[in-house]
Amino acid sequence: MNILVTAGPTREPIDPVRFLSNRSSGKMGFALAEAANQAGHEVILISGPVHLEAAEGIHRINVESARDMYEAVSKQIDSADAAVFCAAVADYGSGEIAPEKIKKTGETLTITLTRNADILGSARDAFHFDGVLVGFAAETQNVLAHAREKLEKKQCDIMVANDVSKSGIGFNHDENEVTLIFADGHERGLPRNSKLDIAREIVREIERLARLRIA
Ligand code: C5P
Repeated sequence: MNILVTAGPTREPIDPVRFLSNRSSGKMGFALAEAANQAGHEVILISGPVHLEAAEGIHRINVESARDMYEAVSKQIDSADAAVFCAAVADYGSGEIAPEKIKKTGETLTITLTRNADILGSARDAFHFDGVLVGFAAETQNVLAHAREKLEKKQCDIMVANDVSKSGIGFNHDENEVTLIFADGHERGLPRNSKLDIAREIVREIERLARLRIA
């Protein structure tokens, strides 16, 4: 299969030297790319700025802003049989980037942010993607309920619910603990394990759903 993975944070530029970003390390997305690659799939990894190396054989495309990531996904998704959206994409970005470095003048500084396009939310409609679609829902409360909502709204086959309020898992850690929520309503908890092992289970589920589509 051809599997597309998005990973890492995005950087939303404010002026030529500053940006807004988040704490995503890219570890979960890179683990997914590695697990898929090890399982024999062709992997396109579209990554925001991270300090990670991708294994040889993984086709990595580096991007910075949410807009860059949107463009890259829109170009690559046609060739994918499955797409896993693991990136922590900024919900808002600076609509207009100041042409010069913003000077410190007043006591407060107001920056207006505008809503970024939802890349995963564009997969089915704008990109006409009909492969296996997997999203991530990083939540701090009502984790499963929010994840179920996102699964429906974004028309995913699997939503990976990730409680990022728990210590030692999620953002920047090497381990994770997630619940997979499937479009048919069933759920499967994956107990705390390395991100690579969690990723291997997610890849197996993607393979299973892809086989069901063909059958
Ligand atoms: O709605 P929320 O941002 O919580 O949804 C998370 C999921 O949507 C993740 O899979 C994330 O990669 C994806 N996403 C995206 N583009 C955005 C925002 C989120 O692809 N602009």
